Amino acid sequence: MPLGEFDLIERYFRRPQDALRGVVALGSGDDCALLLPEPAQHWAISTDTLVEGRHFLSTVDPDALGHKALAVNLSDLAAMGAQPRTCTLNLTLPAAHAPWLAAFARGFFALADRHDLVLCGGDTTGGPLSITVTVLGTVPPGAALKRSGARVGDRLWVSHPRNGGLGDARAALEQFRGTVELPPAAWQHARLRMERPEPRVALGLALRGIASAAIDLSDGLVGDLGHLLKASGCGATLDWTALPMADCLAPLPLHERRRWALAGGDDYELAFAAPADADGAVRAAAERLGLGAQPIGWCEAAPGLRIVDAAGQPLDTAEIPTGYDHFA
Ligand code: ADP
Ligand code: MG
Repeated sequence: MPLGEFDLIERYFRRPQDALRGVVALGSGDDCALLLPEPAQHWAISTDTLVEGRHFLSTVDPDALGHKALAVNLSDLAAMGAQPRTCTLNLTLPAAHAPWLAAFARGFFALADRHDLVLCGGDTTGGPLSITVTVLGTVPPGAALKRSGARVGDRLWVSHPRNGGLGDARAALEQFRGTVELPPAAWQHARLRMERPEPRVALGLALRGIASAAIDLSDGLVGDLGHLLKASGCGATLDWTALPMADCLAPLPLHERRRWALAGGDDYELAFAAPADADGAVRAAAERLGLGAQPIGWCEAAPGLRIVDAAGQPLDTAEIPTGYDHFA
């Protein structure tokens, strides 16, 4: 029996209890979902598309893909300091392959359930493999961590796992591409960071009232931090030696690791600014969540991003990679 569109949705993406949780009054299955707005809260909405060959390799484990399609969206809510509430899933599939769908749904819902996030609807069509998730979260007015709030004198921070850093996912991508050969432990670590990024939702919530601005790192630190600085009307100097980098990648050439940390992409960490008197609060928040928070530089009045090396000398601008741009 071939799996039809409606059977597929019913079997893999509709869960009866979903309409009964949180803000979802009526879930997937009707012409629209019905949401119960929470009084005196802003909705935070974000959407991201993953396209085969562009955002993921065709060989990726579908369980990991289900995880990542949601994780990259939750990362945007995290960067806004928003509490995840519900989401939609638009799937374009070349074929309805039951084992693939089961694994994809497993990865997707495992992450959704950890964030108490209800899937309230979506769309399912045939075509080249592409996945679009839209997430909705809530945040009290005035509490959102916008990109535009950084001020001259604020410290700049980046989150990282205790055993990892920026550029981990890029290291895995380069191994897949065959341009590097990672030691086994580094490969295992990097691959997990690439395929199963952990959205920093709890950190985003904890930084409400502490951080002055935040952004999540999807295209690389230089490009993404550049967006934050531009929105805030300031510039910054970063200390290249302060960038968190995984110990297990240390056997690789320094210039590679430097480029990956600055512009590798797919980090899904938070970069944020906070007034200098909030250092203790930032460290305490990260500590409580079992994460690292690394001070990497300062906001300055002079526009643009400068990066200094161990001797305090500015890196040659030609050495500073820029962020990923789909059309550049
Ligand atoms: P319509 O033709 O009215 O747009 P659809 O046939 O596209 O309706 O969808 C039927 C129902 O199934 C809707 O409630 C929609 O939200 C839900 N749905 C479709 N695809 C998915 C999916 N991938 N995940 C969750 N719900 C889905
Ligand atoms: Mg539809």
